[in-house]
Amino acid sequence: MTQSDAPASEMKADLETMTSLAKRRGFVFPSSEIYGGFEATYDYGPLGVAMRRNIRDLWWRSMVQERADVVGIEAAIITSPRVWAASGHVATFHDPMVDCLECRSRLRADHVVDNTCPECGTVGRFTDPRNFHLMLRTSVGPVEDEGSLAYLRPETAQGMFVNFDNVQQTMRRRLPFGIAQIGKSFRNEITVKQFIFRTREFEQMEMEYFCRPEESLRWHDYWKRERLRWHYSLGIRPQHLRLRDHTSEELSHYSSATSDVEVHYPWGWGELEGVAHRGDFDLTQHTTFSGKTLDYFDPDTNEHVVPHVIEPAVGVDRTMLTLMMDAYDEERLEGGDTRTVLRFAPEIAPVAVAILPLSRNEKLVPPARKVWDLLRPHFRTQYDDAQSIGRRYRRQDEIGTPLCVTVDFETLDDEAVTIRDRDTMTQIRVPLTGLADALHTRLEELRPRVPSLDEIEV
Ligand code: ATP
Repeated sequence: MTQSDAPASEMKADLETMTSLAKRRGFVFPSSEIYGGFEATYDYGPLGVAMRRNIRDLWWRSMVQERADVVGIEAAIITSPRVWAASGHVATFHDPMVDCLECRSRLRADHVVDNTCPECGTVGRFTDPRNFHLMLRTSVGPVEDEGSLAYLRPETAQGMFVNFDNVQQTMRRRLPFGIAQIGKSFRNEITVKQFIFRTREFEQMEMEYFCRPEESLRWHDYWKRERLRWHYSLGIRPQHLRLRDHTSEELSHYSSATSDVEVHYPWGWGELEGVAHRGDFDLTQHTTFSGKTLDYFDPDTNEHVVPHVIEPAVGVDRTMLTLMMDAYDEERLEGGDTRTVLRFAPEIAPVAVAILPLSRNEKLVPPARKVWDLLRPHFRTQYDDAQSIGRRYRRQDEIGTPLCVTVDFETLDDEAVTIRDRDTMTQIRVPLTGLADALHTRLEELRPRVPSLDEIEV
């Protein structure tokens, strides 16, 4: 599997198309819409929730369940503010910003190229850079004063570091081992224009992998490949994915090396996931700030080691947007019509199987409902009998449902139904008795091929 240097993104969806489809079909709604909305805040609708659950489940399965060396935790969102002093976020987690004096846009200083405003094109009319703090603050307790200041976590990672000892000891772990977590993070982001790509409240899936210092480069290389492989397994087209190493100027305060899994969006390559080498920065900082030694006692060598850490960190929301944009297709049909299809892998699709009676005829509805009852325990299903069958197929295509089951008048005689395939639009007839098995088999066939680690070029 090779990485692509494709000159232009082949994604057919732009953000406007995606935002509108997401709203129209119940994936993502603008938050507080009846009050005119609230900037860069979104609510997930029924299909969005199903899809996010799929993403989280697939991540958890590959990062925790299927592995012998990783365990999970769920830490608090609001913690002691001393955690953030130790992590370096209080001192360093800010972006220098400038205002364009012409159009009043507020911009990240590093986004201004050649002293030109990217919004209005004016050259050289900016305020001096000022630092904007990226952590969201809150107040805990009855009185709001200096002592009540707390932060909403800007990353889930610190939960793993402060619980390093608890997990290592209760789970009797030996190096190398990882601690994983999925949960909400918050950042007072200044530039939030790209739908759910960058928001102030978002969800992260992070894993801290603790290893011996001398093995850390090898593990960094391993996790880069493994994470890229996971994105292939979701069905993201290989030509839209690449790994890129950070330059020394880009590195975060804690990192000695970071590689991003990048995606070729219509607006250019952008980060989907970071795979950072955090060294011993976090454990050492928490040891200094808390006075409690966070290290690992190796029973074989009788020595104490401060493990080094490799961290793959990816957003649920950004993964969802990427999957939707990558899967979006407009296909010209014979006869001149165009259909919109989200070509989701079966495990990603919010609905795996739709059950459609040919019409609302009173003879068809009861058997169709029975088929739905039969399939609900096995698949993520949707029942739809509104409008013509052709329009319902289009609707299912547009939400990425891989298979539709149609109940028609013949079903009443032959106890069989039709399975219609989203991508090929072919139809096959299957007896009701073998329906669940036939659907399982077909969904399995539609799963993307996952390359082995050796096939991944880094
Ligand atoms: P960026 O450079 O895009 O701001 P980052 O390097 O600050 O991202 P990390 O701190 O490495 O991001 O966070 C890990 C992952 O969490 C990112 O790759 C992304 O998928 C997700 N993420 C980070 N910030 C946001 C955000 N504001 N909105 C949505 N997802 C985010």
